[in-house]
Amino acid sequence: MDNQSLFRRSRARLAIWYTGVMAVILGLSGFGLYRALVLANWVALEREVESIAGTLHDSIEPMLLPAENPTELLQQIFPDLCVAGQVCDPPTTLNQRHTTGISDRRSYYIRLFDHHGTLLAYSPNQPLPLSQALNPAPWQTLQADNGPRYRQFTTILHAAHTHADSGESHSHGSWGYLQIGRTLAPFDAEVQRLQWVLTVGLPLALVLVAVSGWGLAGLALRPLYQAYQRQQRFTADAAHELRSPLASLLATVEAILRLPPSQPQDVPPMLQTVERQGRRLSRLIADLLLLTSLEQDFSPPSFKPCCLNDLVTDLTEELSELATASDIHLAHHLPEHEIWVLGHESQLYRLVSNLMANAIQYTPPGGSVLVSLEAHDHRAIIAVKDTGIGIPPTEQSHIFERFYRVDGDRSRKTGGTGLGLAIAKAITQHHRGHLTIKSDVGQGSIFSVYLPVIHPPVVRLEAQNLQDYYRLNG
Ligand code: ADP
Repeated sequence: MDNQSLFRRSRARLAIWYTGVMAVILGLSGFGLYRALVLANWVALEREVESIAGTLHDSIEPMLLPAENPTELLQQIFPDLCVAGQVCDPPTTLNQRHTTGISDRRSYYIRLFDHHGTLLAYSPNQPLPLSQALNPAPWQTLQADNGPRYRQFTTILHAAHTHADSGESHSHGSWGYLQIGRTLAPFDAEVQRLQWVLTVGLPLALVLVAVSGWGLAGLALRPLYQAYQRQQRFTADAAHELRSPLASLLATVEAILRLPPSQPQDVPPMLQTVERQGRRLSRLIADLLLLTSLEQDFSPPSFKPCCLNDLVTDLTEELSELATASDIHLAHHLPEHEIWVLGHESQLYRLVSNLMANAIQYTPPGGSVLVSLEAHDHRAIIAVKDTGIGIPPTEQSHIFERFYRVDGDRSRKTGGTGLGLAIAKAITQHHRGHLTIKSDVGQGSIFSVYLPVIHPPVVRLEAQNLQDYYRLNG
């Protein structure tokens, strides 16, 4: 499987997992919300029916005297009710009159029964197919054939004198029953609306989640993909860099082996080539190992105080021979006081010597290289300035990449591996500093290393304490 499809598959898998998890979360919360809303509406509806029934019950009970003809009594109290067994002809003024306590007459109906459970009267808007017989269960849900549903509440009505007269009590204890019903059509419509919102909204939300999941997975995998690609490029570059000296070395060895014994004088120069290529290979491998160790080492480094004045002086002395051989004027400029940093001494030497060697290599004869040291804002600044060929602005962002060369041929000829600046940058970062470049083509370049300084009293502390100090202040 190639890398592209591997990453695409991982991305798809991530997006699918994300969508799946979100589907469960959204599904559960949607269902929970739906249940809560339906329940809240249902409870509110029952409470409303109960409260209307209560009001009605309380207002008519005092008027319910034991009567010979309860229907007549009811007609006096509710002239707009229909009497059971008679043709119902609601008065024309019905809409202006109110059944006690009920303002929304279209949604509610009432029915009154005697204490035997015989229907006495009912409101004209009662759903027709309702049974004439009383079902005394307090709550019922009724539905006419395929018609709207109704929620009905039944309560007992007591005759007036049974409350007032404590000595005399009615044999039944009740006058009759009051039934209040309410259509569930608005409630059912609301539930249907919620169901519709869920059935359409949930899949729609999931499509959005899937699309954003795909995008987010891409975002999350991008740095990994880039790192993977960098790693692959590095491996390919390293193999390529190793192959050329190795091939040349093998060819030379083969030539030596084929050399007739009559030409012993040709052997030493060929062996010198072998040695040169061997050294090049060994330097390349050492550089690669150093880079890898710098990039992988996350443990607290074993740093010691290093005096940068000494470092610059030593390196100027060391490289003066190379500078003289290249006809370059090499000089340094140091401050009067000493500047100390915490670091790995040999790595710091390697960092500055890489910059100085480059400055000498990429400066034409007659030019000059100046290494200056100063401290500013608690930072030590080592600047390596040359009057060399300079680096084009478009190349400046790439020169710290491993194996990158502005002019490959020239760099190889000077023995460069293309790792010098990558190593310099890795060492600087390892010391919690940073490396900058300022360059003009044909004018020269300035490479500046910024490192955190330590103060002389700290220098006297033990190495372990210094590491703690560095960790705490770093
Ligand atoms: P190399 O081993 O090839 O010198 P480096 O990583 O040290 O590799 O440098 C990368 C590239 O940056 C070099 O090939 C060169 O083109 C450019 N370079 C580095 N230092 C300088 C400099 N002081 N002046 C001009 N070009 C430079």
